Amino acid sequence: KSGFVAIVGRPNVGKSTFMNRIIKEQIAITSPKAQTTRNKIQGIYTDNERQIIFLDTPGIHKPHNDLDQYMDKAAISALKEVDAVLFMTEAGEQAGPGDKFIIEELKKVKAPVFLILNKIDLINPDEMAPQIDEYKDLMDFAEIIPISATNGNNVEDLIDSLTKAL
Ligand code: GDP
Ligand code: MG
Repeated sequence: KSGFVAIVGRPNVGKSTFMNRIIKEQIAITSPKAQTTRNKIQGIYTDNERQIIFLDTPGIHKPHNDLDQYMDKAAISALKEVDAVLFMTEAGEQAGPGDKFIIEELKKVKAPVFLILNKIDLINPDEMAPQIDEYKDLMDFAEIIPISATNGNNVEDLIDSLTKAL
């Protein structure tokens, strides 16, 4: 199985840490032309059954000016080309305005959106219950998966769930 997956989320939620943990091949695109494409390949996860290409989309954030608005449009249309989206946030934290803005945009995406609650190593599991209830009210996620990008907890399960969407 193979497919394209985009990771989105506010700064500092752990997107890069997650990518560095799972990707087995780092992709360095040096062509200036490649950098103008809407989706930049960030890395590929491969094993015997799977090849998952992770894409770094330009940031989605509340637009403050015309350029922002243009960037957001590019980010959203980039998400139309993927097989699945990982929306990452921090475990135990209620949704803030940045998260809610991204969720409104993700509702326009056809691909399944997985909610990833990262940094579970920092909290007690029961602290996630109110957060999960809140997020379920905000959007219909394909799955809600708690992980720790730093210690790898539940990351294999996430890859397995993602495989079903490819
Ligand atoms: P990004 O901005 O979403 O790419 O976030 P980064 O990957 O740069 O991570 C931001 C900070 O959170 C860094 O200091 C990471 O070490 C830390 N971090 C990322 N994932 C985890 C995690 O699972 N547990 C803990 N405790 N810290 C994490
Ligand atoms: Mg990063």
